[in-house]
Amino acid sequence: MSGQYIPYGCQWIDEEDIQAVAEVLRSDLITQGPMIQRFEEALAEFCGATYAVAVSSGTAALHLACLAAGVGPGYEVVTSPNTFVASANCALYCGAVPRFVDIDPLTYNLSPGRMEEFLAKTSGPDIPRAVIPVHFAGQPCQMEQIWSTARSHSLIVIEDACHALGARWQDSNGTWQRVGSCSHSDMAVLSFHPVKHITTGEGGAVLLNNESLYRDLLDLRTHGITKDTSRMERNDGPWYYEMQSLGYNYRITDLQCALGLRQLGKVGSWVSRRREIAALYDEAFSGIQGLLPPFQMHGTEASFHLYVPQVAKDLIVFRNEIFDKLHTHGIGTQIHYIPVHFQPYYRQHFGYSEGDFPMAEEYYRRCFTLPVFPSMKDEEVQRIADIVLQLVAEYGACG
Ligand SMILES: *Cc1c(COP(=O)(O)O)cnc(C)c1O
Repeated sequence: MSGQYIPYGCQWIDEEDIQAVAEVLRSDLITQGPMIQRFEEALAEFCGATYAVAVSSGTAALHLACLAAGVGPGYEVVTSPNTFVASANCALYCGAVPRFVDIDPLTYNLSPGRMEEFLAKTSGPDIPRAVIPVHFAGQPCQMEQIWSTARSHSLIVIEDACHALGARWQDSNGTWQRVGSCSHSDMAVLSFHPVKHITTGEGGAVLLNNESLYRDLLDLRTHGITKDTSRMERNDGPWYYEMQSLGYNYRITDLQCALGLRQLGKVGSWVSRRREIAALYDEAFSGIQGLLPPFQMHGTEASFHLYVPQVAKDLIVFRNEIFDKLHTHGIGTQIHYIPVHFQPYYRQHFGYSEGDFPMAEEYYRRCFTLPVFPSMKDEEVQRIADIVLQLVAEYGACG
């Protein structure tokens, strides 16, 4: 057996990161201290947004973004079936109904055209309130189209940017927009789970430009409590606070933000490294029969949270074989994602079944995720590519 196990994604924590966390541990404020605001300011600046609200997870960020968007009973939230369950569950947390719009088979992202069709014919008892486009694998969604369609149907746009910190795309004026700047959305959500671009252990954030939504998010993060006297109904004294909405304890800690701040300083070079790794895979797989490297849309710079090739249409059995054989070679390939509507909970509660979103389903049968993380060496990428090519050749040879 050659080499050690290579996971599909992996955090990178150095001695200085550990020092930064240790410093907070030695200070007086380990939960709500100065690091949170510093991390938030750095995040907002990096992404080009006015505000960032850091919270305990990406899932918490999605939940709060939906609440701030006014999602609740009687409303629908539209998202992609090709995502982690959290992108749809956030609607359920608010008592709303999650709805899916199929993907574009080229980009693997929610299709803006299908979204337009869906909204044009929707006539149920529930009203679409928000759309959550997911920048799958770090490939930016077609935000201009999504934004203008959403606007014309009075929908709030919440980008699930958990895969896309550091990704960019060019708008129709030729201006480069960074994912997270919310130039074409109301809010964007990040995750700092160890497998994502930067980590705080668990953690997440909402990015946005609107001050009133920002204040709502700050309150919702901590029980719906405000201590801002200008917004209180009365003031009994210096101890006084008001709970004005039903919020949660979704706070992040100073310990986590010390780590996040350090990690954020490296994200630029890490995203470049991810793009180099993707280019190495692309080069190895170009022109290979039976294998399709991920499509890169013109005018986008994906951040490659994942590198996802597909096998050709008639090679679905082979995809399963690749999965097994890569694992026997110590390569932690994964499948992203099982379409959310396939999940038993969604089938049982919403009556979904196979065939409902054929593009996402077909994609699911053909995709596999290869390892990408910034500390990977070129030789490791090459070894993985060689094994994949060998499997393709063997499979081609015997049928
Ligand atoms: C990771 C992820 C989430 C959830 O983030 P957590 O921090 O794990 O709660 C949501 N959506 C997508 C697309 C993700 O990849």
